[in-house]
This record gives sequence, C-alpha cells and structure tokens, in this order.
Amino acid sequence: MTIQSREQCEQLDREDALAHLKQEFALPEGVIYLDGNSLGARPKAAASRAAEVIQQEWGTDLITSWNKAGWFDLPSRLGNLLSPLIGAEANEVVVTDTTSGNLFKALAAALHMQAGDDQRKVIITERSNFPTDIYMAEGLTGWLQRGYRIHLIDSPEELSTAINAETAVVMLTHVNYRTGYLHDMQTVTALAHQHGALMLWDLAHSAGAVPVNLNAANADFAVGCTYKYLNGGPGSPAFIWVPARHQAKFRHPLSGWWGHASPFAMSPHFEHQPTIRAALCGTQPIVSLALVECGLEIFAKTDMQALRKKSLALTDLFIALVEQRCAGFGLELVTPRDHVQRGSQVSLHHPHAYALIQALIARGVVGDYREPGILRFGFTPLYVGFADVWDAAEHLRDLLASQSYDLNLKRNAVT
Ligand SMILES: *Cc1c(COP(=O)(O)O)cnc(C)c1O
Repeated sequence: MTIQSREQCEQLDREDALAHLKQEFALPEGVIYLDGNSLGARPKAAASRAAEVIQQEWGTDLITSWNKAGWFDLPSRLGNLLSPLIGAEANEVVVTDTTSGNLFKALAAALHMQAGDDQRKVIITERSNFPTDIYMAEGLTGWLQRGYRIHLIDSPEELSTAINAETAVVMLTHVNYRTGYLHDMQTVTALAHQHGALMLWDLAHSAGAVPVNLNAANADFAVGCTYKYLNGGPGSPAFIWVPARHQAKFRHPLSGWWGHASPFAMSPHFEHQPTIRAALCGTQPIVSLALVECGLEIFAKTDMQALRKKSLALTDLFIALVEQRCAGFGLELVTPRDHVQRGSQVSLHHPHAYALIQALIARGVVGDYREPGILRFGFTPLYVGFADVWDAAEHLRDLLASQSYDLNLKRNAVT
C-alpha cells in the first residue's frame, strides 16, 4: 500500500496494537522524538522511582538499603530483567559501568582465553564502528604490549576473507550507529568460530531495537547501553553478557571487590567468582541504576517480535515518504533497504545535513547529526507513531523546498 495522506497514517495508528505504550512515556507536547537511539525518552515511572530511591531508600533507610532495598543485588536483578530481550539465560547478564568499560572487560577476557595460542594476535573490527569501541581496543592492546594488532575492515563482506587462524577476537557492533546496517549475528559468529576466533558483540543499537538471540547464535561475549532504546536515562549503566559456559574462565584486569567471590570477607587477595558478578568492579551508581528498571518494565508489556514488526513498518514508511515527497533535493538513503540488514533507524546523507537537523529540531522534530553529512532518525516503536513519521517527512520536505535553514550555524559540542 502506498501512503499518500496523513489520514492513512492516522488509520495505521488506530490499528496499531502497540500505540497505547506511548502513554508510558513523558514526552513533551508537540515533539516528534526520533532520537531514542541516542537517548531514550523518559518513562513516566522514573520520576516516582527516583523520588522513592532518594527519599525512602537513601533518605530514611540509609545504609540498610544495601540489603533491605536490594541495592547490592541490583546489577544482577536488572540483568535478569534484560536477558529475555537479548536471548540470554538467567544469571548471564549484569547491568553495570559503561559500555566502553564493559567492552574493555569483555575484550580483555577474550584475549586472555586465547592467550595460549601465540598465532592469534589479531582483533578484527570495522573502521566504521563507534569510535569508543576501537579506542578501547587500542588502549587495551597498546597497554598489553604483546604484539596484538587491530585489523579495521571497510565493509562487512571483508569478514569472510579477513577472519583466519591469526584472529583472536572478532569484535563488531551488531547495528552500525551511523548507517543502521544490521549484521547477521548467527552467520558471523559461526564464521568466527570456524576459524577458532571468539565473537564479541556490541548491542548498543540492538538491545530493545531488534530481536537478538545471543545463545542461539552461540556468541561469546556481548555488551550494550541501557540509555538508548532501553530508556534507562542519561548515562544509565550499561550491560555485559557472559554466557554460563565462559563464566569460570572469565578473567579481566579490573578485579575490584564487587567481583570478588566474597566481597565482605575483606581478604587481602582477589578471588575470582565463577558467576556473572565477576564482571562487576566497584560500587554502583544506585540512583541511576535503579531507573533502568522503569524502562525494562515497559518492554515486559510487549515482545521484540511485535516491536520489530512495527519498527520495520515505521522505517519503511519514512523511506517511502522521503523518496516520494523529498525527491530532487539531494537526499541519499544510507540505511540498507533490505529488512534483514536494517536496524531501527534511517540515515540520510545531505550536504547541508547539520543545518537541516538543527532546523528540524527547532520545529520539534528531534533527530541528530553524525559525521559525515548524515541526518540520523531513530524509530522507537514504543512511542513513535505513523502520523509522526508523516509529519517528520513533511517538515523535512518543507525545509528543503523553502531552503529555510541556516548554513552558518555554529556546531554545538554534542551534535
Ligand atoms: C553509544 C555507543 C557506545 C557508548 O559508550 P559509552 O561508554 O556509554 O559512552 C559505545 N559503543 C557503541 C557501538 C555505541 O553505539
């Protein structure tokens, strides 16, 4: 069906079985929020949860809350709530630290597991990966000084020739932050394993965005954010997955007391614990961590298959409307058309992308800008509807047609 009017989009919204979930979020009136891939919207429940943690748990119950309110156990409890979204079993995920920090731990553990084979010195990743992932690998390998090399590939097709008997770890981001390209987790993991390499996935743009099944793919390690599609709040702690089969061998150098087999024994030596809590390091930011639950509770009201179906319908619609109604203005589609290769975002290239995004934001259509020249729109099916997609495309068309955007804008620190 080709969509030619806003009324048709309103009809799609009326037929949408997920439409009621938008009520769970506190979104400002008149804003079309297409940046949930960067900072998810606020669950309404987060305000009262924050008040409860601050007033009751911290204010009144003070230190007893480590036990009484379950603060000490919170990274594991949240990990177990998150597990079904990524195909993990119980006690395989903790919510803790940052994605950058968790990637460091997972990569260090993977290199440690491969250390017996002197031939395996190569980490394969993509040049287009989110920079912090590459930086962390550079930091770790540079510091180890054991001759590890990072091989940056320029397209997913290169994986089949790049992975070989020298590969220690293949470290990929499942959905590319810039293009929205989605890797085939099962096939790539199998390819890495065929050559004896370990497979580390970054799920920053997949968790809560696309169905993920880490155990079905037999992956080795995974990390990801909770502040993007999972709506955990700005800078909310990230997650790390270590499958049960690797937990006894999982060693990383950030051996803080929270990862100790018995933290309150206060022993002068570190003792590894063969559980997912070995991925913890030190005391957690409880206020921020507690709010992650509010986002996860909303996912418990639906399932990833239903969300995926709506997400593809939204991105298909946006691509179609941009191509029908914004043709001739120099926009180029960067995101794959093929559903099996598309995450939950649409990226468009335009020479005036930064100015266009700022003009859209001024009109209440919030997307973001990424180098080079990319307008990036995240479609979060929990709170974006079909009429929103129509309106976003119309604003874009109107801006392009009237050229009412400012090419002399000074760049903000965060684009
Ligand atoms: C967003 C994102 C990160 C963010 O890492 P932080 O440590 O939370 O700043 C890391 N990797 C990828 C692939 C991302 O998309």
